[in-house]
Amino acid sequence: ALVDREMAGLTPNPRVISLDSAQPEFSKPIGAYVNGVISADRIARGQRYRNDLPFWPEVEQRFGVPRDILIAVWAMESAFGAVQGDFDVVRSMSSLAYHGRRRAWAEGELIATLKIIQSGEAGRAQLKGSWAGAMGQTQFLPSNYISTAVDGDGDGKRDIWRSPNDALASAANLLAKGGWVRGQAWAREVTLPAGFDYSLTEGPKEAPAYWEGLGVKPADGRPWTAAEQAPGQLVAPAGADGPIFLLFPNHFAIRKYNNSTAYALGIGLLADAFAGGAPLVKPWPVETPLAISDRIGAQTALAKLGFNPGSPDGVVGVNTRTALRAWQKSRGLVADGYLSMEMVRRLNVEAGALPN
Ligand code: CA
Repeated sequence: ALVDREMAGLTPNPRVISLDSAQPEFSKPIGAYVNGVISADRIARGQRYRNDLPFWPEVEQRFGVPRDILIAVWAMESAFGAVQGDFDVVRSMSSLAYHGRRRAWAEGELIATLKIIQSGEAGRAQLKGSWAGAMGQTQFLPSNYISTAVDGDGDGKRDIWRSPNDALASAANLLAKGGWVRGQAWAREVTLPAGFDYSLTEGPKEAPAYWEGLGVKPADGRPWTAAEQAPGQLVAPAGADGPIFLLFPNHFAIRKYNNSTAYALGIGLLADAFAGGAPLVKPWPVETPLAISDRIGAQTALAKLGFNPGSPDGVVGVNTRTALRAWQKSRGLVADGYLSMEMVRRLNVEAGALPN
């Protein structure tokens, strides 16, 4: 009866389907993305909230996630609750299931949405979200709402739409379930010695002492802290010309929210800014955005030269970066696995797609 009632007369939403299929022509370089995240206006607002909201001590004590991380999530997900999306979640999930690209996932989320309605916790009119079904001030999927949302303010309801306390306690619970370790740092900016072997980036997760042994040092010259005694993975997200980070388990907990290095770095660096942390020692390089044709061209060239990057889909993932590192290393280049415009040019020249 519930399905009949909620699905009666439902039609696919063409906007949801077109947004789900869209691939941007240009990818924003990570430095431009992160600099956009850490805006002065956002920092000022976040700093007000970290002092003004009364519920932080209780949320921090209960889940072990610092307020600055939660405020950064809040800022990024909904502009502090202001932009929650007004798509009907039942229709969005039905459209995504019907469209087929992510059918099993969307069907699961549709059933979760109907279960929320059945439970009486929130009605159809309340269940509004982004085109992809993320709901409320911290943009929870319906399945996350069921499994992970909590009542922060103690009124007996889990209202992630109207109660900042509920929404932020729920986000803290999601991060805690995703492996957030109470009292640990999320990352440290580091420097690498000359001639460092970049094939160690995106590689082993080891304690700072291991990395010190390879000449890796904190970029600001100050010692490691007790909060950093954890297995860290070295990354060079903008290549050898950009800042280098040692990422601790809490970085990977943030990625349970959105599995993107850029997103999780944005959250961490924004949180550091709320807490009054110093800017990066090494600024992000200013770069030319790569078009999708540049990325596919580089992948095609790598394959032609015998370095398999996986399917040439224009998405620069681990396979592409690994192939790029191997090619760079074999050519005596700094093997940072970072696809800059210069690397695109060199690859195309070598593969014969461009004149030398
Ligand atoms: Ca509540």
